Order: sequence, then C-alpha cells, then structure tokens
Amino acid sequence: MNKVCINILLIDDDADDYLITEGLLADVNNPSICFKVDWCSDYQEALAAFHEDAYDVYLMDYHMGKHNGLEMLKEALRLGVQKPIIMLTGLGDVEVDTQAIQAGAADYLVKGQFSEDLLERSIRHAIERAQMQRALRESEERYALAAKGANDGLWDWKLSTGEIYFSSRWKAMLGFDEDELENRLETWFERIHADDKGWFKEAIDRHLEGESSQFEIEYRMQAKDGAYRRMLTRGLAVRNPAGKVYRMTGWQTDLSTRVASYDALTSLPNRSLFFERLNRAVDRRKWDHGFSYAVFFLDLDGFKMVNDSLGHAMGDSLLLEVASRLERSLRAGDSFIRYDHEHLPSSTVARFGGDEFAILLEGISDHEAACGVAERIQTALSQPYSVAGQQLFTTASIGIAIGQEKYDSVEDILRDSDIAMYSAKADGKARHAIFDNHMYGRIKERLSLENDLRLALDGGQFRLFYQPIVDLLSGGLVGFEALIRWQHPTKGLVSPNDFIPVAEDTGQIIAIGLWVIEEASRQLKAWHERFPHYQDLSVSVNLSSKQLAKASLFDEIVNILSRTGLEPKYLNFEVTETTILEHTDLARQILEQLRTLGCRVKIDDFGTGYSSLSRLHSMPLDVLKIDRSFVMNFLDKSDNAGIVETIIQLARTLKLEVVAEGIETQAQLQRLRSLGCRLGQGYLFASPKDTSIIEELLSAERLLVQAD
Ligand code: C2E
Ligand code: MG
Ligand code: MG
Repeated sequence: MNKVCINILLIDDDADDYLITEGLLADVNNPSICFKVDWCSDYQEALAAFHEDAYDVYLMDYHMGKHNGLEMLKEALRLGVQKPIIMLTGLGDVEVDTQAIQAGAADYLVKGQFSEDLLERSIRHAIERAQMQRALRESEERYALAAKGANDGLWDWKLSTGEIYFSSRWKAMLGFDEDELENRLETWFERIHADDKGWFKEAIDRHLEGESSQFEIEYRMQAKDGAYRRMLTRGLAVRNPAGKVYRMTGWQTDLSTRVASYDALTSLPNRSLFFERLNRAVDRRKWDHGFSYAVFFLDLDGFKMVNDSLGHAMGDSLLLEVASRLERSLRAGDSFIRYDHEHLPSSTVARFGGDEFAILLEGISDHEAACGVAERIQTALSQPYSVAGQQLFTTASIGIAIGQEKYDSVEDILRDSDIAMYSAKADGKARHAIFDNHMYGRIKERLSLENDLRLALDGGQFRLFYQPIVDLLSGGLVGFEALIRWQHPTKGLVSPNDFIPVAEDTGQIIAIGLWVIEEASRQLKAWHERFPHYQDLSVSVNLSSKQLAKASLFDEIVNILSRTGLEPKYLNFEVTETTILEHTDLARQILEQLRTLGCRVKIDDFGTGYSSLSRLHSMPLDVLKIDRSFVMNFLDKSDNAGIVETIIQLARTLKLEVVAEGIETQAQLQRLRSLGCRLGQGYLFASPKDTSIIEELLSAERLLVQAD
C-alpha cells in the first residue's frame, strides 16, 4: 500500500524538543501515513518557510527566544500561509491556548503532555480541516455568482454512515417542511427522475474516483406535489490525508425558477443558455482537436399555419410535443442532458422561440453521422400528433454546421447552420442540409426574390394568363384557367413555379391570391359583357392551401363577387388533393361554403397525391383534373392508360366532371375522347395566353379544335 507522507516543519529553538517530536512521530502506528519532520530554530528561517508554504503542517513553539509565538502566528497568516499551524505551549501558558486558536492556529498541544496518538490525530485533523476549508473556499468563490446565497439548498453527506443532511431550504425547494424527509441518501435517490438516475450515480462515482474536479449535474427531481423540477447540483468530495473520501458536500439550485435560462413553454434551455454552452464548445474546439461538435438549426414547416388556423393553444401543444420528441430522439440510453465541469453536454436541445429549435451535439465530426441524427429527428417529428383530439402533421427543416476551428464565435456557426436550414427549406422542406460555402449565393438570390416579391403586388407587376378549357368533342370553348405570371422589372416573365412557393413561405400568397380572384372575376365579367356569344364561360382560379387556412377567405370571395358582379357559378376553384386531405375541417368548411354559394371546386393534379380513390366521395368536389403526367405518356405506358381509365370511370360513378390536363397531341386527344373524357386543356389547343390574345380569339369566335 502506498503511504501518504506528511511533511512537517517544527519551529522550535530547543533541539531536545525536535528529537522528542520526531521520535513520537516515528512511533505512530498508522499504516497509511508516514511523517517527515524538518527542524528550524531561527525566526528568519521560519519566515522564509512560511513564505514558501511548502509544508503540510507547522508545529510552532510558543516561546522562541525573544519572539512571541502569537505574533509569529499572526505574521505567518499575514504572509498567506494556507497550511495548518499547531501551537506548542508550555505548562504555565494559561490562556495562551485560546488566544492562539482565536488568532488562527489549527490546534494547540501542551509540551510534555502529548502522546504519539494525540500528536498524530491533531496533525491529521488539522490537515483535513484545512483542506476542507480550502475546498469550500474555492467552490464558494466559483459559485458565488450562481448560488446567490439563500436560494440554494445545502446538503452534506457522510459516506461512512450514509447519513445525509439536507438544509431546510433544500427541502423547501421540493415543497417539504423542515421536519419532513429522512436524512438518508435514499431519500434523495428516490426522488430523482427514472431517466436521470443512472447517470446521476455515474457522475457521483466519477467525482468520488477523482475523475472530475467537482460533481455538477442537471437533472430532474420530483417535488412533493409529484411534479418534476429541473435541478442543478454541485458538490465536492472531502478527503482525508490518505486521499480517502469521507464526506461530500454541496448545493442544489432549482433551475425551474431560473426563467432567465429556460423556455417557459417547453422548459428547454433558451437561447441564452444555448449560447453559453455553445460558447464552451467553440472555445474548446480551438485547443482540443480531438473534440468535435455540430450545431443543428431546426424550424418546423408550416407551423404558422397551425397557429393561424387552429389557434395558439393548439400551436403550443404541438410545440410541447415536438420538444419532447426532440429530447427523446437525442437521448442516448438513459442520459438526459449530460453536463459536468469537464464534459460538455453530449446534447443540448434549446428553443429559440416560435417554432425554432437549436441543438448542440458533442462527438459529431462527419457529415454521415450528422445526417444520421437529422434523419432520426425527422422521422420522430413526422409521426402524426394527436392534439386536443385532432390529428396533426408537421415536418421540420434542419440546417447543420459542423464545428471547425474556423469558427471563432457562437454567432458564426449559428449563422451557418441557419443558412443551411434556410437552404433545406428552399429545397422543399422536410429536409436537412449541411452548410457549405455555395449556400451563400443561393440564399442571397432567394432573399432578393423575397424582397422583390414584396414590391410586386403594389407595383402592379402581376399578370394573369388564361388557358382555354375546351369541350373535347365539340371543340367549343367552355372556360379558362387563370394562371399567374410575374412581370419582373429585370428578370422578365417569372413562372409561378418559381415564386408561388416563396410567396407561400412568406405569407404573401394571401394578398396575391385575393388579387388573382378579383382580377379573374373582373376580367371574366368584362368578357361576358363584351362577347355575347360567350356568356357561359367560366374561370378557374388556383387556391393555395395557405389561403384555405384562413376562415376569412369565404367572406372575401363573397365581397369580390359582389364588387365585380360575377355570378358565383362562373367562378371555379382548383385545389390539390393534398390540400383537401391534409387540411383540416376549416379547409373543407370553406370549400363547402363556396359550393353552397354556387362556385365549383376542382381537384387539381389528381393522381399525384396520396389520396385513395375511395375517399373521393367524401370530399367537397365537383370536378376532377387528371394530372398532366398521366396524360403525357398514357399512350405508351399501359399503367397510365389504366389509371386514366379508372379515374374517368370513378368520376362517372361519383358524378364528377373530368378535365384532362396537358393534352399536347392529337393521339392523346383521340384516346381521351374514346375513354369518354369530355373536357381538357393543353398546348394542343392553346398555352396560357395574355388577355389581348384571348380577346382576339373571342372576337374571331374560333374553335380551338376540330370536331370530327
Ligand atoms: P396547375 O394549376 O396544374 O396549372 C397547369 C400548369 O400546366 C400551368 O403551368 C400550365 O401552363 C401548364 N400546362 C398547361 N397545358 C400544358 C401542356 O399541354 N403541356 C405542358 N407541359 N404544360 C401545360 P403554370 O402556368 O406554369 O403554373 C404552374 C403552377 O403554378 C400551376 O399548376 C399552379 O399550381 C400554380 N399557379 C399558377 N397560378 C397560380 C395562382 O394564381 N395561384 C396559385 N396558388 N397557384 C398558381
Ligand atoms: Mg390548376
Ligand atoms: Mg394542374
């Protein structure tokens, strides 16, 4: 067994005393400790030794020549001696003992009256006490800020007996009175959240084994009322001179009350706590090249719509569930948020506000691992949510930045993860993307598009083009589909595919959509009046699902119809099947209202969504538009031919009208006719045209296709 050697300086001008003391210490019968005694008989020499403070303990004679021991003691303390000083007094020195203790001596022994045991015990205790005081002082300094005195509960655990003292504040934080709760370690452990117990023990063991310089952990603890509170506990082991821990003592802070660091809704760390932790990671990466981390920036897709259409209470419930899924999908084994002084948390999930979350992950250095985690998160989040009896769906877009030395600050790496998130969103949502330098350019382009789009409506830059819808048998014109175009000041005519998704993201689709309805209604009414032959033409307007998330849409449409004087039966609305299916009662309700008013509802791009044909009958519909992709190659692909035929038959059974989209060739036209499809649109007849061309066409009363 390794012995611990205690170095002692005996300050005494009497050589006999030195020999006696050394003899006594040599006889001490403690297998784990040995003593080495140095002797100093000179005042100056002693001062030099105090200055260095290299001994474990000092034994000091009260009488040293002309010097008074009490003054020497004070001088030693003034010099900053940290190690214990034990005063050796003579028999006649009544009252010196108490004065010495008051002045700061660790103990006093009366010369000629102490045995080896007494001497050994006094030395050992003096050293232990000094160590403990030092440890307490250090930790007090370290935590002075966090502790703020009265708010922390104290605990003091005696390892030998398992007894543990909890201060009344410690108990009060959990809702208990002073006389409640037994002073046993089990009292504590029983209240720790099942998921946190394992690594709580692990953190204590690590500290007891000397692997961490202090014990520090965030975990959840059950209060008297049964609710869990988030606690931060810090502690220090106190060791005897042999290095054995016999006590552990510390503080407990209730983090649930630290609103400044935690998000009120989800109780996840908030932005500022996240910054604090990320800052540590960024710093550590600079000197510890073995350390790796990644930052995930996560934004829910379409959350605003949930909030707007279902209300904030539903939105909040959804966010709560998202938060807990995030935590669960990141928690490896039973760990919660790992956090101690040496080790950064292996993961921190924070809510930045709204539907934005950020994640700090330790130990991730390559793209593959990061994508693996992102996929796990996305799978967890895409499962249906059941909120207040309703089923909801949401997905998330995730941007990832891998920690590298180039990152000097928290802001830099967060910005890059944000850009990556933005890019994932622009690529079609429900995706993740890892930051790369090319993203800057693309994001800049997208941002400038967003900016330009803001000016477009007021600037009168939108146009409506009209694509004729024809009777496939007679070749007669039955109406138009209104399709928007953006006359961009520098880019020319921009396709709706390039800006409608952007307008949906920014919410501008609401205003743009209303403009389309009003403009199409106004135009059609004008054509009805100007071309008496075409009094029965109708116009179809595309509705984005965002528009159907606002209950006010119906009233706005009623207003538009009364302003323009168009009869509702001439106004049709096109919605995609996902819009109807994914969306809620509100969307259905609006569509029902519109049908009751006399407008017709068409399901657009039919066949590309995931609706089952059998559900069609329960939808508020009048017309079914077969998607262009089936029409385009249904001649050479028998699958498509089958689908088109089935759709037409089904529509007939359900008494729905059918429009075939994207007819480009005579052969397609013939085939559709033979299948009994009555209506169609496509380049074969006309591409979408601006109003002047449509007016020429109407003036000429020209048929768009020859009936045979
Ligand atoms: P959509 O509603 O399915 O419109 C049909 C699209 O197919 C139009 O593209 C049309 O130009 C194109 N098309 C028509 N016939 C043919 C053909 O024979 N061959 C081919 N290859 N294409 C044909 P466009 O005008 O670029 O519009 C694209 C999409 O943008 C529309 O698809 C619609 O979803 C959306 N959109 C257009 N205008 C509006 C609008 O005012 N509001 C909303 N929310 N969305 C709109
Ligand atoms: Mg359409
Ligand atoms: Mg379509």
